[in-house]
Amino acid sequence: MLDNNNWVTCYLGLGSNLANELGSPVEHLQQALASLEQHQAMRQLRVSSYYASAPMGPQDQPDFTNAVVELETTLTPLELLALCQQLEAQAQRERLRRWGERSLDVDILLYGQQQIDEPTLVVPHAGLHERNFMLVPLRELAPELMINDQPVSAYPLSADWSGLELIH
Ligand code: ADP
Ligand code: MG
Repeated sequence: MLDNNNWVTCYLGLGSNLANELGSPVEHLQQALASLEQHQAMRQLRVSSYYASAPMGPQDQPDFTNAVVELETTLTPLELLALCQQLEAQAQRERLRRWGERSLDVDILLYGQQQIDEPTLVVPHAGLHERNFMLVPLRELAPELMINDQPVSAYPLSADWSGLELIH
């Protein structure tokens, strides 16, 4: 935990393309967001629209439902990663295949303006610059947001909706 008054603004990317007995993809996202809302070390949550996106990797899987959440937290980056993995476990995520279907994926996109390069955690998220399902909702939440000294609105792909559809 950081010092109690030390709140860092973070962005998490949520994705799901697999229903299970706990719910549909949209419900998996909603349940994860509810857990984040209730967490003591989280405040000021703001959620983007939900988007449908074509899968990366294997194409014989359903489209993903994606959203990005902005929040302030007192968790350290590694504590936040552990929480993301706890949310995935709560959705009974199973490791099926690389870039394959999952009931819930929670990635740390940004942690303040920190650059993190550890074996288990790379922030800003390594795929951020090339993934519309991360860039478009980020730009919706925070058009002025700086990523590596460039505003998110200046990233070319964030103006390009290919592979992406607004759900609600
Ligand atoms: P992916 O999200 O790429 O489909 P996984 O969710 O299975 O894959 O995550 C694989 C590993 O990626 C995790 O165990 C985690 O340690 C690592 N990782 C590195 N950087 C990040 C990040 N920014 N957010 C979440 N996980 C990350
Ligand atoms: Mg992940």
